[in-house]
Amino acid sequence: MRVVGLTGGIASGKSTFAALLRERGVPVVDADALARRVVQPGSPALARIAAEFGPRVLAADGGLDRKRLAARVFADPAARRALEAITHPAIRQAMREETRRLAAAGHELVLYDTPLLYEVGLDATLDCVVVVWAPREVQRERLMRRDGLAPADADARLAAQLPLDEKAARADFVVENADVPGALAAKADRLLADLRAGLGRRLPNAPPVRY
Ligand code: ADP
Repeated sequence: MRVVGLTGGIASGKSTFAALLRERGVPVVDADALARRVVQPGSPALARIAAEFGPRVLAADGGLDRKRLAARVFADPAARRALEAITHPAIRQAMREETRRLAAAGHELVLYDTPLLYEVGLDATLDCVVVVWAPREVQRERLMRRDGLAPADADARLAAQLPLDEKAARADFVVENADVPGALAAKADRLLADLRAGLGRRLPNAPPVRY
């Protein structure tokens, strides 16, 4: 089975594109959903997080208070590394289990929808990577509209990620999502046809395939 990474920048349209791939019958594994699952109440990862950061990061129902934890690690790189040392191996393990399950069900292609794919170095473990791209100005506008953010907050979120142009330069496939959303459906068809025809990782100096 081939495991293809799907990523983008905040509000570039990755989730919109992932939904189109799902509609076409491809299993799309949501890394955010796995990340929430591995810290569910009763999980070993949650117990380790509580031991590391104290009971203050737990909500009244015993689950993780994600906002509190995010605020705790946001401006503290050492705390963030400590958190990631707990969560990342658990997420990778969950991804391996999900991959095995899908392979056993007969799927030949699976997409991993992962917002911070390059930031966490996941590209090395995948067969190839698709980046959903939009110009920064478009990302910023969509982000303000979708999440009701002030311009300064949108800029802060954008600045916290690797620039999308850099991700696109490293990708094997780039899906341009600068214009109307209707254009994405045909791009999903073309990408899937190319992946099923065996296209994958590009040669080191070759440009990505663009849609
Ligand atoms: P991501 O998952 O990359 O953060 P989303 O798929 O949620 O991004 O898209 C961000 C916002 O922009 C959403 O509100 C979505 O409906 C909207 N959107 C996505 N693609 C387009 C497009 N081509 N034109 C206009 N709006 C779009």
